[in-house]
Parts: sequence; C-alpha cells; structure tokens
Amino acid sequence: MKIHEYQAKDVLRRYRVPTPRGAACFSIDEAVKAAESLGGKVWVVKAQIHAGGRGKGGGVKLARSIEEVREHAGTILGMQLVTHQTGPAGQKVRRLLVEEGADIRKELYAGMVVDRSTQRVALLASSEGGMDIEEVAASTPEKIHKVFIDPGTGLRDEEADEVARRIGIPEAAVVQARAVLQGLYRAFDQTDASLAEINPLILTGDGRVVALDAKMNFDDNALFRHPDILAMRDLDEEDPADVEASRQELNYVQLDGDIGCLVNGAGLAMATMDIVKVYGGEAANFLDVGGGATTERVTEAFKIMLRNPRLKAILVNIFGGIMRCDVIASACVDAARQVSLRVPLVVRLEGTNVELGKKILADSGLPIIPCSSMAEAAQKAVAASRGSAAGKN
Ligand code: ADP
Ligand code: MG
Repeated sequence: MKIHEYQAKDVLRRYRVPTPRGAACFSIDEAVKAAESLGGKVWVVKAQIHAGGRGKGGGVKLARSIEEVREHAGTILGMQLVTHQTGPAGQKVRRLLVEEGADIRKELYAGMVVDRSTQRVALLASSEGGMDIEEVAASTPEKIHKVFIDPGTGLRDEEADEVARRIGIPEAAVVQARAVLQGLYRAFDQTDASLAEINPLILTGDGRVVALDAKMNFDDNALFRHPDILAMRDLDEEDPADVEASRQELNYVQLDGDIGCLVNGAGLAMATMDIVKVYGGEAANFLDVGGGATTERVTEAFKIMLRNPRLKAILVNIFGGIMRCDVIASACVDAARQVSLRVPLVVRLEGTNVELGKKILADSGLPIIPCSSMAEAAQKAVAASRGSAAGKN
C-alpha cells in the first residue's frame, strides 16, 4: 500500500525526522488558510498523488505571496498531473500539501528497501538528490552508498555517520544526519514498510538536515497490525480493478496480455502463466482466488477480468484439494451466467470430485471448453484467444 507525501511526513515526524511544517488541503480556501497560519514569506504548493516526479510535471510550485498560493492551488487542484510514474493519462490531483518554503543549500538522497539477496534492509544514500535516483544508479553507481543493516543492531551510529560524510554532510551536521537516518530506519522497520524514501533530503542554508519529500510503501500482508497506516489508504489513487480485488481478498495483478487466468494458489497461477507463454500466449492477469473460492468470489474474479478491454479468452485452472472440483465447477457456471461472458472460457479441473465437476460443466449448456491437462488447456486458451477453431470444441 502506498500513502501520500504528507502522510509519510507525519509518519517520519513520529520518528523525529525533521520536515518542513505544512498542512494537507482539499480546497483552494484551505490552502490559503494553511499558508496564512504557517506564516513566513515563501510557501510551496505540492500536488499529492501516489507518484513521484511531480516537480517536473508541474505539480510542485513555489509561492512568494498568499495570492500566489491561491493561484497555484487553483492550477494544481483538479489538474491531470502527468509524471514519468503516472503513465500518459496522468493522475487527477485531489489533495495538496502547503508547506513552508525551505532554504535549500544541497539536495541529497536517502532511501530504504528490502534487499532480498542479503535478506536485510538496505540504506541507499547519495549526494545526488532531487533528480531521478534511477538515473544516478544507472550512470554513476559509485555515487550511491549502501549499508545492509543488521536487524539485531539496527543502523549503528558509525554506519550512519560514515554514510552521512560520504554524501557530503558537513561535520557540524553529521549528528543530525545520523538521527535522520536512524529515524528513517526505525520508521521503516516498525511500520513494516517495503520502501521509505527521502528525495531530496536537504541541507539548509543554516546547516540543518531536513526531509523535503517523503515516500513510503507498506507490506500489505502486515497492514493488519498497523490500523493507523491502513487508515491512510486513499482509494482514489488505486486502480479500480485492484481495489475491487483486494475487497474480495483476491490476489490480482493486471498484465499486458489477453488471456485471463483464474487459478487457485499462487504457485499454480505462476505455472499457468508460464505454460500460456510456452504456447505462444500472454496472460492478461495474475489471479489467485485462494483456497476458499466461493461462487461470490469466483463471480467477482470473472467481473474483474472482464473489465479488461483487451481480454480475448479466460483460462480457469483449478486444482481441487481442500476445494472440491464440483464446488468450483458450480461456481464457474453460476459466475459465467451472471456476467455476460463475451470471451471463450477454457476450464481445466483436477483433483477431488473431478468427474462430478466435469459433468456440471458439460450439463450447464454453456459454451465452456473443458480440458484435462494443463498443456491442453493452455493450447486451447491460446487458440481461443486468436479466435481459431482449435479453441472451440
Ligand atoms: P517530486 O519528487 O514528486 O518531484 P518533491 O517533493 O521532491 O516532489 O519536490 C520537487 C522539488 O521541489 C524538490 O527537489 C525541491 O527542489 C522543491 N521543493 C519541494 N518541497 C519544497 C519546499 N518545502 N521548499 C522548497 N523547495 C521545495
Ligand atoms: Mg522528490
């Protein structure tokens, strides 16, 4: 799950990471009021969307008067903000962050991710903040410094200090930078984050270390123990198909192909996508309906797949272990009747009560293409997606 910059800054402040003072706003009037109560002479009006690159896309604007705050808030609120992370359609701006303008001496970078090869949280830091860190990593990887953090000790003082010096923090600010980096680590660790990024981390004119931007993503599987984080979820920022899938507790990921795959179990779902590819097709989605696939969930799964305009065929591949094949067959038949199925449906069942399951499919009168093996199912789904007769039975 992702959150907005202002929310990530709220989280970081709890771990004593300094940020500019600011307020989230939902209207132009709120933005003006926020700027007035912040006081000062310079403000920054920032679009809040779940994507980076807002500055370059025109979503971050400096204001030198309250009138300018009003102007920028008017321009940014409601705009369709396009950045390199939003895709060409962009994302509609519904919220703003109005914060005090910082006096930037230097823009640095600090981020944390889980490094799977070392099985540790990695701190990545660079003197080259503010711009695309991916670009820095690709063209000048020596400018990115890494620490693989021991979960037993956390980020140690000497590790933090060394990184701070390497990214150009002056000696007088090293202790502050240490507190920021250790705060970032504790925030990451204690909230079960999967990403925590400060870009830019700045050095101010008067020598302070401040988080000017903040991005945090969280491990969905750990959200049950962070109700405060879950409360920050903004459904407007999520793909409607993903929202619907998570409401139904389906593991759904939309992909670029045209064969919808409905499978029980993540391993079987991956194997199904692989075999579709072997036979020359491309999966339209990853979809694991889980162990307790009820008619309702299977129906929702069909509906979610059918939202995809590229969809040309559906391949249902179910192994009936605890879930019985007759139950899943009935669910498929009911679901296919409820949604007006506009693409060929290939079904392969195996396991407990498979004969009964097949009979239910055959007796349904629906144009279902039944298969016995995975290879046959994949071939027929690929053929059906191309509209060829081989896919029709
Ligand atoms: P994004 O990464 O989405 O472009 P940032 O929050 O990093 O958004 O803002 C882009 C740039 O805008 C920053 O690199 C910084 O130069 C400037 N900026 C952002 N917030 C402030 C602020 N409070 N004061 C002054 N400049 C800011
Ligand atoms: Mg940024």
